Amino acid sequence: MTDTEHLREQLKYLIHLQEIDDQLSDIEEDRGELPTELEKLQNQINRFDQLLVQTIRTIEQLNERRLSLTRGIEEARIRKRQYEDQLYTVTSNREYEALTKEIEELQKLLGKNSEEIQRVGQELQKKEDEQSRLEKHIHQLKIDFLKLKKDLEDVVQDVSEEEIRLKKMREETVTKIAVPIYNHYERIRKARSGKGIAFLKENGACGGCFNIVPPQRQVEIKTLHDFILCESCGRVLITMDLKD
Ligand SMILES: [Zn+2]
Repeated sequence: MTDTEHLREQLKYLIHLQEIDDQLSDIEEDRGELPTELEKLQNQINRFDQLLVQTIRTIEQLNERRLSLTRGIEEARIRKRQYEDQLYTVTSNREYEALTKEIEELQKLLGKNSEEIQRVGQELQKKEDEQSRLEKHIHQLKIDFLKLKKDLEDVVQDVSEEEIRLKKMREETVTKIAVPIYNHYERIRKARSGKGIAFLKENGACGGCFNIVPPQRQVEIKTLHDFILCESCGRVLITMDLKD
């Protein structure tokens, strides 16, 4: 094998290695996002649960209010009836007027309480509708949550299998690359957002950092003269045609 052929082969392995590493970092990224989605849904359920608890508490308070109003009305009616009965046995005008005044007051109170009981009833109806809407919504969210959880577990399972396959492929590829070249690739990849190689662009720029590669270097890359590193970012420069 000539030096040029050897270099071409090495560069092709580097391209392959970079592709594997790109897929592996995609997997890493996806895995990071999956639990976040689940967490978002869980937070949503918690918020609606809290809302439901508040609504139920309000309903309890409204029921208590309605009960106390009902009692108040009953008591007022009894007292009013007693005063009305007493009207038949009064002996003086003053007593009559006092009783009549009491009856009027009670009548007013009854009117006020009846109005309020109606308002409380309407409010209760609204809150009860809200409660049933919330319960339905939470029920649906919990179904979605379980479904998403199941999906995520499946995805994690698939991804893990894919990851194992890629890592095995990576190991095999690495054994085919000269150690100093691989070490350089790894160092740059880790330092330069996951990319250890860069393709030479048509305009003569490094595809990684976009700095122009000196013309002499461009020629050397194209003629497979040697491993050429970008002077700016350190990535191994490769021509596009080696990609296929
Ligand atoms: Zn560069």
